[in-house]
Amino acid sequence: MEETTKCPFCSEEILKDAKKCKHCGEFLEKGVRPQPQYIPKKSSGLAAILSLCCVGLGQIYNGQFIKGFLYFFVFVILLIWAGFMGIGSIFMGSLTAVLLIPFIFGVLPIISFWIFGMVDAYKTSERINKGEV
Ligand SMILES: [Zn+2]
Repeated sequence: MEETTKCPFCSEEILKDAKKCKHCGEFLEKGVRPQPQYIPKKSSGLAAILSLCCVGLGQIYNGQFIKGFLYFFVFVILLIWAGFMGIGSIFMGSLTAVLLIPFIFGVLPIISFWIFGMVDAYKTSERINKGEV
């Protein structure tokens, strides 16, 4: 006697190896029926790379236009700020000040914000793919 199973569509008794249900005509073999596939909408890697090229670009790629422009705007402010720090430190006279102050108050915030923007773009695109955004 051949092994039987229940058809998942009509619950009728069918052969275990059946490819097609003889009662309701549904295909039972995997691959015959198109399975719903997980298709990522956004590439989180690309979002991070875009943010590396230009701050805010990853956010724009994710469809967050205002956030993207805001990030870029903050970045430009930080650059100008770092420029002032660099010029200002020259007048302080000491070499330590010239080297350290622009780095701590200028370069570090820029790098931090840059990385923050990349991580944010990456995480946001992952959330978009999961359907959370
Ligand atoms: Zn059936």
